[in-house]
Amino acid sequence: MGKIIAISNQKGGVGKTTTSLNLAAGLGYLNNKVLLVDLDPQGNATQGIGASVGEDKLSVYNLLMEDYTVADIRKTLTSPPIDIVPANISLAGADLQMVRFEVGKEELLKNKLDQVKDEYDFIIIDCPPSLSLLNTNALTAADSVIIPVQCEYYALEGVTQLLLTIRLVQQLFNKNLVIEGVLLTMYDARTRLSVEVQQEVRQHFKDRVYKTYIPRNIKLGEAPSRGQSIFEYDVRCEGAKAYASLAKEVVRMNKKKKA
Ligand code: ADP
Ligand code: MG
Repeated sequence: MGKIIAISNQKGGVGKTTTSLNLAAGLGYLNNKVLLVDLDPQGNATQGIGASVGEDKLSVYNLLMEDYTVADIRKTLTSPPIDIVPANISLAGADLQMVRFEVGKEELLKNKLDQVKDEYDFIIIDCPPSLSLLNTNALTAADSVIIPVQCEYYALEGVTQLLLTIRLVQQLFNKNLVIEGVLLTMYDARTRLSVEVQQEVRQHFKDRVYKTYIPRNIKLGEAPSRGQSIFEYDVRCEGAKAYASLAKEVVRMNKKKKA
């Protein structure tokens, strides 16, 4: 049975997409069957992995709003070895359309992903930066959430709000939802601020914070413009090492939980 992990934080620019894409790739290279679901109308994960689809083509929008299945829409990539359900700008209208549904509007994604859960070891959902109905769909479909926290001023701002949302989703739609882990991103060891934020986040979330942290690394910013994960773009850079280490840590923790 696959594990569905939402990468969520309503703050923009904290590394959700970078983490979704490179964690999915890292897990794929560790021989896991992986599906990456792009749930952001901006489609950054889709573009960043070189899987763009035009507005006239099937995307996650059709999966949510129409009768299509994941099998109809997913694309299979070879490097990295993962499947992706792509997003494009069509998704921007989905939130408003969904609001009008009488029942089940929070469970649209869950219903579709449950059909293919058995085919995968991990399903990674890249969430949009807002606490919208799309995000609720992600949290309702997910078994757990990874929260990327940028090592910057006000790092924990927004996380409090996300934790409240998670609690609400637990009460209303998904009582089994848990926090998979908190991930420190864009860490810069040369700045005192990064060090302080790291300490603060570890104090607050204790052992739920991954041992792996993601350094600020120029290559991580460049790779998406080539439509590559960090492992194709520059497998030896610090960013690649960090995401490889994160993928291993995620696998290790899930083995432990199963045992
Ligand atoms: P989000 O999805 O939360 O909005 P992104 O993953 O798109 O955040 O990251 C925001 C920007 O920062 C992007 O331009 C991305 O390429 C860049 N970025 C993300 N992580 C890193 C990192 N560790 N080092 C350098 N740049 C990064
Ligand atoms: Mg993003």
